[in-house]
Parts: sequence; C-alpha cells; structure tokens
Amino acid sequence: MHTEQRLVEWLARGGLRPTRQRIALASLLVGDGEHRHVTAEGLYAAAAGTADKVSLATVYNTLRAFCDAGLMNEVVVDGSRSYFDTRLDDHPHFYWEDTGALTDAPAAQLKIAELPAAPEGAEIARVDVVIRLKKA
Ligand SMILES: [Zn+2]
Repeated sequence: MHTEQRLVEWLARGGLRPTRQRIALASLLVGDGEHRHVTAEGLYAAAAGTADKVSLATVYNTLRAFCDAGLMNEVVVDGSRSYFDTRLDDHPHFYWEDTGALTDAPAAQLKIAELPAAPEGAEIARVDVVIRLKKA
C-alpha cells in the first residue's frame, strides 16, 4: 500500500482529518511501519530536516491530539519529560539515563505479582513500568 494512504488510514483510525502537518508528522512517526518513542523536541528536530516545517508548539499539540485520539500513548519518565509511543499495547520500558532514550523492554519477562490496593473510592487505571538504566 502507498505510504500516504497508510498514513491517512492511521489518522482515520483516530478520527483525525489528514491535514498536511499531521501527514508530515505521522510519516516521521509510523511511515516505515516501525514503532517509535519520541519527545516533542526530538520529533521537532526530525521534522526540521524535511520539507514540511512545523513549529515546536504544533508538534507538541499534534502529539497531544494523536494521544487523545488513541493513536499514541504518552509515557512520562519524570515530571518534566514526556515520551510519545506509537505502540499501544501494555509494555514495559527501558529508560537509558545516559542518552535519554526510551526503548521497549521485553514484556514476557515482566511479572507483577501484586500491587498495593487502590485507596478507597479509586481504582487502578493502568500501571506504567519504566526501568531506569545506567552504565554498569
Ligand atoms: Zn514502547
């Protein structure tokens, strides 16, 4: 299938109209069919190298829109840094402290035996597992 059509369909899955900017950013995110973890700054830098110039604010708003549409998941590694993941199933992550990269960790090896009970009146919405790595 033609890449542009695949991108239009990816956007349509989230109910999003295929604007030029969305297509350009979607192309950098899922254009090759691989999963990706990006920060807004990283995607902005990647977009700057293409013909479709977009502002950092547009990149940020578009990533938010993709998350709201259920096309991506946000992974917060620390309070100030968000990663956006094109892979939607539940899976743990490695965070490489020296490079700031976020990569998938093997889900099959993760076993969560027990979780603390949710406080009264609350329920667990989801569990994010981020394993921080440093040089051995
Ligand atoms: Zn991931």
